[in-house]
Amino acid sequence: MVDLVGKDHAMTLQRSIIALIAPLALAACATAARPVPPPTLQITAYAAAPANGRVNSYLVTGRTKAMLVDAQLVRSETEKVIAMVRASGKELETIVVTHAHPDHFMGLAQLHAAFPSARIVARPEVVEALPEAFDRFVPLLEKFFPGDVADALVMPEVLSQPHLQLEGVDIEVLDFHEGESEYVSALVIPSMQAVLCSDMAYNHVHPWLNELRFDGVREHARALQELPGVQTVYPGHGGPMTKPQLQEYITYVDEFLQVAEGASDTKAIVDAMSAKHPDYEALAGLRFSASAFVQAREVEAQPAADSSTATP
Ligand SMILES: [Zn+2]
Repeated sequence: MVDLVGKDHAMTLQRSIIALIAPLALAACATAARPVPPPTLQITAYAAAPANGRVNSYLVTGRTKAMLVDAQLVRSETEKVIAMVRASGKELETIVVTHAHPDHFMGLAQLHAAFPSARIVARPEVVEALPEAFDRFVPLLEKFFPGDVADALVMPEVLSQPHLQLEGVDIEVLDFHEGESEYVSALVIPSMQAVLCSDMAYNHVHPWLNELRFDGVREHARALQELPGVQTVYPGHGGPMTKPQLQEYITYVDEFLQVAEGASDTKAIVDAMSAKHPDYEALAGLRFSASAFVQAREVEAQPAADSSTATP
């Protein structure tokens, strides 16, 4: 009798425990089956010294993986980017090259040596332009940065579709033509309300306007201002910007044109623009832009001078 009561009691206890554990076990199963939500990405910038162009390389990180946007100009700066990636503790999965200007791709071979499993990608326009750009810029760069210039180029794979992912988070690649460079990719991360726009914008750094496509440069900056859902703009040179701050860059370009058209020579442009913007970094960009403007004006004036001397 006593045993029976005891047995009944034990069975009741067992049922109670099962009743208690079952929902927990079911909840645990449900948790395991539920897909892991995509991570919140983070952006960390490495900015080169002003003498090395103040160019940004951006490290976009998820939980365990990372994407690097743009390589550097000189070897010593690329070393610091490699250190930043290593310090992040993330696995570098992808390296993206936004455009075929040397301050954004010269570090590729070094990065590839440091992170051989990272996939290097760029849009077709960039891949096509890189070999010629590398050959053209290396001798020039060696004069300015002797011993600090890459002697090899690692070619990116063609990114045939305009989108990327990092740990399941979508990154849209927008194509822009005929601005600061012939072509540039802007990477929009909708979940961060951010765009990594490369040299479609500069922030308190003298821009490289030496390809003289002033209308395209301003159109691209305005396109950034109109990007839906974007709050923060990460430029190729200088710190992050808000959309209204892009107006300052557009105004700089307007001023450059105005100053350059009225200036007698390169020095006059450099002096006037650096006086207007004493806090701007990387004066080399201004020197090259001013020089290119004056040279183009001289070339333009040449046929007219020839024809006037030829006229009897
Ligand atoms: Zn640049």
